[in-house]
Amino acid sequence: MSYYRKNDEQFRKNIDTLVSIFKSQVPQVQQLPKFFKDQTDGEYFFIGYNFDLSEDEILKVNASLEFLNSGRPYQQTMDEINRVFGSVRQAYKIYAFYGASKKHFYGEKDKVKRVCRFCHGTQATGAKFTMDAHTISESIGNKLIFSYEECDICNDRLGSSVEQDFGEMLRIDRCYFGVKGKDGIPVVRGENFTMEHPEGGALSIKFFNDDDGHVPELDEIVLKYISRYNPQNIYRCLVKYALGVMPQEYVCHFDKVGNWVRNQNSLAKLPTLKKLTLAKHEMQPHIILYIRKGGNKDLPYAVGEFHVLRYIYSFIIPLCDEDDRDFCNQMDYDRFWNLFTHYNSIKDWQSMSVSIDNVIEHQICIKLSGRSEHVPVNLTV
Ligand SMILES: [Zn+2]
Repeated sequence: MSYYRKNDEQFRKNIDTLVSIFKSQVPQVQQLPKFFKDQTDGEYFFIGYNFDLSEDEILKVNASLEFLNSGRPYQQTMDEINRVFGSVRQAYKIYAFYGASKKHFYGEKDKVKRVCRFCHGTQATGAKFTMDAHTISESIGNKLIFSYEECDICNDRLGSSVEQDFGEMLRIDRCYFGVKGKDGIPVVRGENFTMEHPEGGALSIKFFNDDDGHVPELDEIVLKYISRYNPQNIYRCLVKYALGVMPQEYVCHFDKVGNWVRNQNSLAKLPTLKKLTLAKHEMQPHIILYIRKGGNKDLPYAVGEFHVLRYIYSFIIPLCDEDDRDFCNQMDYDRFWNLFTHYNSIKDWQSMSVSIDNVIEHQICIKLSGRSEHVPVNLTV
């Protein structure tokens, strides 16, 4: 049986038949028809039967799919992959954490052996591990990626500090795309509008007119919102996510990072945080880790890449005992960036200033015209 299948009408009919046979024994199969209906009609996909693929195998699968879906020669895609990823793959091991399709817990399963990755607490020192700790915050859409090695106190404190700030930075996107957290989909109360997104319903924006009674055209409307959060907490939060999924054998090199993530100290300077805005969005966030293979200290030991909604953030994980510098120096940073061809070949990355370590106001202005994606909107003016 082929691992490559086409998502066409016949395939979806077969899925319906399968669901009708198995739904009483395995109720979860009822989610399949919607899943395939939401994917592009006629597109090929790859079926993996509960086995892990190596980095090389994943690239080959992607090249095969590219050939099946667009006719692009396999070798051409492989050559392109080598051109773009060759240097980074030589210098780094790459780990991707997608959460697959069901909940996955990272870290030590045995509670007696667990060490919290942030405060280093254990059961013997009084730490408790009774809660399901979301590695990536639930409020930004994570339903699948969880941590064993995050104690209840850190879970609670990080959730109400650094993770809350990250969620606040994305509040408008969370409302726009209808991301449901523990408290539902957030409402945005701006200076001249309110934005709400009832579950399963259309996005609704209520715009408050200026006093002069002028009714603006759609493309004249500018929504104004003041977001309040601590910029350094944005970097702390990204590092929190990365440390949460990091394979166990590397965690020992980040003993000092936990205190900083927990806001016990402040860093005067941080390496540049880069952000890329995409035209498409995805609802389940995911994370990619790059861990340096050799001892070349001209390159950072660990780099994180976080994907959430329509953004990608790239960041060096600081305070690592395998690094002999902090990569805040532009030359050091550029050496890393120039090696990552899949980053530097895209010119749209923005540098974010995140060194300030107290809550500040961020003025956000949004024009309603020129939206790149279609989300149905009920606009009241
Ligand atoms: Zn802890």
